Amino acid sequence: MNVILLSMAIAILLSLGLVISLGGLSLLSGTMEFFFGGPKVEFLKSTLGDTGFAFGFKWNDEKEPAKFDQIKLRLFNPFGDPTQVEVTQHFAPQGKTFSMDLDFGAGLRTLLKARGFKSALIQVEISSTKSGIFHQFDMRGHGFIKKLEAATLTANDFNDQFKEGKSKPIYFQTKRTFIADPVPSSNKKLKIATNPEFAGDFAGAGGGAAASVENFAVSKVWIEPGCIVCDACEGIYPEVFEVLEDTCIIRPDAPLHDGLKIEESAEACPVEVIKYTKA
Ligand code: SF4
Repeated sequence: MNVILLSMAIAILLSLGLVISLGGLSLLSGTMEFFFGGPKVEFLKSTLGDTGFAFGFKWNDEKEPAKFDQIKLRLFNPFGDPTQVEVTQHFAPQGKTFSMDLDFGAGLRTLLKARGFKSALIQVEISSTKSGIFHQFDMRGHGFIKKLEAATLTANDFNDQFKEGKSKPIYFQTKRTFIADPVPSSNKKLKIATNPEFAGDFAGAGGGAAASVENFAVSKVWIEPGCIVCDACEGIYPEVFEVLEDTCIIRPDAPLHDGLKIEESAEACPVEVIKYTKA
């Protein structure tokens, strides 16, 4: 009897111990997340003089996949003058850890030189206007100044250290190699859609006909959605194509006279999103 009671007591104690440990662990991870996992703003050294403000912003972009594009600096100064100042700057949407060095103009000077600034409340608000997400960091004026004075990294230094590089799919392109002998000289026109220079190489001594592939101008060239930023088009015709972080664009002053090169880029595009119309 005693043995049964003792076993039951041990089992209950073990279960209680397990529940308490699990609760403790969950609380601990919540606390860790609260203190160390939240978004962080870091003050940086601006290179834009007394109207510039530079900052770095880190957050958990997996839990909060927003693109941040706006910063506001607010001064709440009920016992000083002026009593309230707000300056805002917009920037290109950023989806990962990033830094910015922005010129806020005379408004920032007014904010920093406010009478009573040191004891005023300063709010740094970084937001995603599209997703409606706001992160606010409050501090007193003296704390704000202290952080500014302690900043040693510039926005570029911060990006070098923390910004994740542009992640592109690894893409291997086979080099143009020619195994066969040059095509013998003939009057037959080669139907290869590429530029005359390349066609000439391909055809070797017999490339006269191929090299005579006529070039043409295009009236319009554009990129449809779906670019996988593989760089192939920019490698072929950098004057026309510019590959950005997450897509490819047509340069504003792109020359449109070399249709063969544009056609070659379109053919090299693995997802066939380069389109054009002949002039
Ligand atoms: S447009 Fe096509 S070729 Fe150019 S980068 Fe995008 S996927 Fe690559």
